[in-house]
Amino acid sequence: MTTETILDAVAAVEDRVVELRHTLHRHPEPAFQETRTAALVAEVLSELPLSVRTGVNRTGVSALLTGDTSRKDSHRERTILLRADMDALPVQEETGLPFSSEVPGVMHACGHDGHTAILLGTAMVLCGLKEDLPGNVRFVFQPAEETTGGAEGMIREGVLENPRVEAALGLHLWGSAPRGIVEYKPGPFMAAPDSFTIRILGRGGHAARPHECVDPVPIAATVIQQFQNLVGRRVNPVLPAVISVCRVSAGNTHNVIPGEAELEGTVRTLDPALREEIPAMMEAVVRQVTAIHGADYRFDYDFRYPPLINDSKITALLRDAAQTVLGRERVREAEYPTMGGEDFAYFAGAVPSTFFFLGIAPEGETIQHHHPAFRVDDTVLKDGIAVFCRAVFDFLERDAVLEQRL
Ligand SMILES: [Zn+2]
Ligand SMILES: [Zn+2]
Repeated sequence: MTTETILDAVAAVEDRVVELRHTLHRHPEPAFQETRTAALVAEVLSELPLSVRTGVNRTGVSALLTGDTSRKDSHRERTILLRADMDALPVQEETGLPFSSEVPGVMHACGHDGHTAILLGTAMVLCGLKEDLPGNVRFVFQPAEETTGGAEGMIREGVLENPRVEAALGLHLWGSAPRGIVEYKPGPFMAAPDSFTIRILGRGGHAARPHECVDPVPIAATVIQQFQNLVGRRVNPVLPAVISVCRVSAGNTHNVIPGEAELEGTVRTLDPALREEIPAMMEAVVRQVTAIHGADYRFDYDFRYPPLINDSKITALLRDAAQTVLGRERVREAEYPTMGGEDFAYFAGAVPSTFFFLGIAPEGETIQHHHPAFRVDDTVLKDGIAVFCRAVFDFLERDAVLEQRL
């Protein structure tokens, strides 16, 4: 498939994709409530030669494009998966855009409306070129990326099977990268965003008689400090780790020692082994610090999404595809991984995959995700579609050539 043909087909759907993005933006829905979004996605997909499944992991939608697998003398079909997330956030929009959210307190403040529109556009383009597509494409529109991870449930409900998916691609519109720039990275790319809640159980009483109490407040302060020593002194410095205590709560007035303090926060790691070790290190700190002061504790640790680790071969394929459609100067390796989490990690953990960023920031600026003023640059939507389509053809065609030789 020539790049020229792909780019012409992308140009033909661009206006509709931008319009769809604006419609999605007007009607944001939070995690697992993406019913209107899913209905719109299913409606657009139903116009195309696809087999569509709705209600996958509650509000998810999946669709299969069956290409012309007879084009190669192969005993085996190949299938690649493309994924978008559909959920919005509990943020009150303050962009002043004409297509601003019409739902009070809910906003597409992470760009998932753009991801959904890009994937719909990709489905339109690939369906238009299906006679020349030597394999299958599975489109996945998942719920709840921002909360509990809609990806895992969709995998459980079979989106990687029938036919068996052999590779997966996903993208995120990215406020830290300049408009229209693709950033890729093989290996660890995004962190495991695990979380914890710790209760320090002391004994409350009169603020003037601390010796008759077990004050949980200074104990909590010591625990917080020791967590930072843990990152600084116990964790191998070449392995990134973040422990952020984000909520500290205790007491309700100035002259009563509270009976209890509660800490809540997040732990970010890229290394799967370190990820497993950190909770025990943290609990040891809590156990020993509370023991010194005669307090008790409860320690709850929640393993959320795994770290997102990009496959090196699929990442190289994506890089080459992006360079072909955008030019070398618009494609670069990300300097660092990010410690943000992303539930595409479940796909990447199951099949060789790559997740990449598509920049949306104006020259010299950074766009904050999850912020009331977050905005997407519509001119990059076509770039996302073109990169996806080129990568799909490269994956299926390259493989067809390889298999013919065997
Ligand atoms: Zn987000
Ligand atoms: Zn996001």
